[in-house]
Amino acid sequence: WNKNDFLWSSDLNDKLKSVFKLEKLRPMQLQTMNVTLSGKDCMLIMPTGGGKSLCFQLPAVVSKGITLVVSPLISLMEDQLMALEALDVHATTLNASTTTAEAKSIFDGMTNPKATLKLLYVTPEKLAKSKRFMNKLEKMYQVGRFARLVIDEVHCCSQWGHDFRPDYKFLGIMKRQFPEVPILGLTATATVNVLEDVKKILNIPKCQLFRASFNRPNLYYQVRPKPATQIEALDEIQKIIQSRFNGQSGIVYCFSRKDSEEVTSGLQKRGIRSGCYHANLSSQERSRIHHMWSTGKVLVVVATIAFGMGIDKPNVRFVIHHSISKSMENLYQESGRAGRDEQRSECIVFYRLADTMVFTEQTGLKCLYGILAYCLDSKRCRRSMIAQHFGESWDASQCDGMCDHCDLNSIYTSTTIDITNHCKNVLAILKQATETDQRVTALKLVDSWFGKGQASLKVKDIKVTTISKEKADIIIGYMLLNGYLKEDFHFTAYTTISYILPGPKANLLLNGNRQISFEFKVKALGA
Ligand code: ADP
Repeated sequence: WNKNDFLWSSDLNDKLKSVFKLEKLRPMQLQTMNVTLSGKDCMLIMPTGGGKSLCFQLPAVVSKGITLVVSPLISLMEDQLMALEALDVHATTLNASTTTAEAKSIFDGMTNPKATLKLLYVTPEKLAKSKRFMNKLEKMYQVGRFARLVIDEVHCCSQWGHDFRPDYKFLGIMKRQFPEVPILGLTATATVNVLEDVKKILNIPKCQLFRASFNRPNLYYQVRPKPATQIEALDEIQKIIQSRFNGQSGIVYCFSRKDSEEVTSGLQKRGIRSGCYHANLSSQERSRIHHMWSTGKVLVVVATIAFGMGIDKPNVRFVIHHSISKSMENLYQESGRAGRDEQRSECIVFYRLADTMVFTEQTGLKCLYGILAYCLDSKRCRRSMIAQHFGESWDASQCDGMCDHCDLNSIYTSTTIDITNHCKNVLAILKQATETDQRVTALKLVDSWFGKGQASLKVKDIKVTTISKEKADIIIGYMLLNGYLKEDFHFTAYTTISYILPGPKANLLLNGNRQISFEFKVKALGA
């Protein structure tokens, strides 16, 4: 740091109070704002709710000219525009519903030095597809009014991330076209690899990175084995909500629309005021549910990931994942909607192997195995695992009992079991399948292991297993993660099926003296 890095601090602090009516900047906000104001490219990685918008809105007010904000969703822009209007900051958006007269006034504002317009929001599609708009930007640049390019959700540039959007790739030309315009990228979710990729795509190799901590000290993280049937899962969710969160707000995330409908009606029947939210509902219905939840008329929103961006309810006391998310980023972001008011809140994930098998995109496998590892771990601090995932150093002693593995009062303890023979038996079933020319899914594999299903898959020398279904699930997951098994995707016109095959390390286990023990989580006696 040198002195110039804080050149803008006093201007910023003045406008923070006079325009934004806020007292104090949060950690990382001041540095980011100073660097972007000094004309350098930078990226801010800050968890959802951390205050990223202010990092470009306040500099936009302090700067001459116009800040162009690229944002993926019209609804996100609208939320911000409403808030800015209330503060009397002149901001607008240019999109398909902009009238000709409005567009004319925006174009005028882009080049006229007397115009009051400070922030212009567009989708990446607008940049990629409207030649006319690019020409206007060129003019704005030539007259020195292009103050800054802000790219919200900047991880969408990278195919390695969990949320790639093809139109974001186009943003790569912006640095070439407008070399003097500083770029500010914002994201809640980027890992080191994704960030490096984003830098390349945007042509900003020297871009400075600012990373706010991902730790949310008020969130309690827990993973539970998911019961085998929907009814049992609903009973357990009901018990959690009624015993610990009676009358309080929360979200239950489901994998599919069908699941979310089933869970909603299940919870309603169990006396919990719930509403359903997914992408197939009309936008009026979605707004209605969101509104009823925001105002407390509905306590639990049961949703697919369509219920996401733009949720800013402070007192969400729990986020339950009825099925796991497709990546750690998704899980972190979805869970992070709990406890914005900094009060203690819980993030509970129900894990079972079958729920991971529904994600059959090969490209996403690395992300999926990341979350599988998180769920299967039975002893490491959950916070350490999250921190490690986001490339942050972390000392587990700081968790302070706020995860199921650090919590001394946790209802779970662990027990170590030698699973070598179990793993060998699983491989024997697969060998038999190959010999009889069959392919097996995880479900079929577990069935044969339990002595059910096709006779041709039964292996003479092995006894039907006596371990629980939950443990069997975990063993298969463990074998996938550790290369004893692998998935083989089979694409048909209608669907993708994941078959299980012996993995690259299968022979090491079959032919060697390898012993594998695994720490299983078990409910403590009396819990
Ligand atoms: P993000 O984009 O990181 O998810 P937002 O920009 O939506 O977060 O900000 C979340 C909330 O925090 C908003 O209500 C915002 O007004 C508030 N906020 C941001 N910065 C500050 C600050 N320095 N002091 C107080 N509140 C802040």
